Amino acid sequence: MFKNILIVNNDTQFNTNLKKRINHSLHSKVSIIKHLDQDIDNLLNYDLYIIRLEHKTDSIIQELTDNDKFVILITDHDNQDIREKILSYMVSDYVITNSEAAVDYVCKIVKRLLSNAKKTILIVDDSKLVLTQISILLSSQNLNCIQCLDGDEAWKYLNNTNAKKIDLVITDYEMPNMNGYELVKNIRSKYSFEELPVLIISGSENTYMISRFLKVGANDYITKPSINEEFIGRINNSLLIASMFTKIKNMAMTDQLTGLHNRLYFYEAGVTILNNSNRAGQNSSIAMIDIDDFKSVNDTYGHEAGDKALIHVANTMKKALRRSDVLVRFGGEEFVILLPNCSHSQAIKVMQKVCKLVAISPCHIENDISLKITISIGVTSRPRDIHKMLETADQYMYEAKKSGKNRVFSQD
Ligand code: GH3
Ligand code: MG
Ligand code: MG
Ligand code: MG
Repeated sequence: MFKNILIVNNDTQFNTNLKKRINHSLHSKVSIIKHLDQDIDNLLNYDLYIIRLEHKTDSIIQELTDNDKFVILITDHDNQDIREKILSYMVSDYVITNSEAAVDYVCKIVKRLLSNAKKTILIVDDSKLVLTQISILLSSQNLNCIQCLDGDEAWKYLNNTNAKKIDLVITDYEMPNMNGYELVKNIRSKYSFEELPVLIISGSENTYMISRFLKVGANDYITKPSINEEFIGRINNSLLIASMFTKIKNMAMTDQLTGLHNRLYFYEAGVTILNNSNRAGQNSSIAMIDIDDFKSVNDTYGHEAGDKALIHVANTMKKALRRSDVLVRFGGEEFVILLPNCSHSQAIKVMQKVCKLVAISPCHIENDISLKITISIGVTSRPRDIHKMLETADQYMYEAKKSGKNRVFSQD
């Protein structure tokens, strides 16, 4: 988190707009001075500096980056000399301020630096010097890094379940034990292109080698002399694509009303959980739940009240379940629960608890109106594939309805 941000810039309008934008999205304290020679308590007291590039700023920028401070430079000049000068510092980024969108760009960089703090990059290279150079570059982007000296070490790290989650792999090609090509092949046997992006770094500009890498599953490549601005750009792009993919996937698997996972998630996670528990010789159970007489809630109190009742039932059921149980909104007013490593008798007990808890928890829909909601549940624990188990649980749920609702039924 950037608690204290310092803007050093003599353009008052720009400063006002930028401060407003930063305050709008972050809880940071933003201080503004026009020039660096202005009186200021202690220059090193800030976490992030947004500084207009001037001759007299040279030594101070150096001092700030030497102290691992994050610096974004702004300038009106868009030419090669300025660009080279900026790139000679280890700053996070720079923005040309001669356009309307400049404030936007600065805000985007600040947000990117913040989201990078949660990300970890695995760098694989047999040269300690390259590892150090890349690590310095990545820390200017607020990225964490793990270093490995060859593909074998990296592959072992990725397979260590206790290791930190990796968001991107950057790998060299020529390395002892396992080269970059083999590493990418191994990574793709386990992770998709979107789940774990891989960037190849190599001294060679051999286009054949690069296309071989892309074919085997690398997301992008970078040739060694251009380690800097382009490199950072490619890393940030790969990270952005991966996080957008995760966001979209989560959205597609989440029910917007209740916040529970949905049917799509159930099939994806359910197959893995059932396969694992079958392999481990454990018993797992599936329950199908349907709200009783739900149509009358909508008909009597309106659709909005019906929505509140759905959220209420979801939250109430959650309270009676273990963390490992998977509760999803299967559709409409139907829910499914997968209970991993849970025998039939245990599952019946848990579901009776769920059924009772829903029945005794009043659902407040308006100030003085509370509803009594009940559910009917079918449970099966016979180890079969997920589709057959769902079908059986559904049949049992209808039996629960037929025999009076507000109950659990099973005939395993
Ligand atoms: P039963 O006890 O046999 O299950 O009767 P029921 O009234 O619950 O069953 P029915 O299938 O006739 O009605 C289900 C109702 O659930 C109809 C539909 O309008 C309502 N429903 C489904 N999804 C939503 C939703 O997202 N919001 C609201 N408010 N209602 C929903
Ligand atoms: Mg090498
Ligand atoms: Mg129904
Ligand atoms: Mg119903």
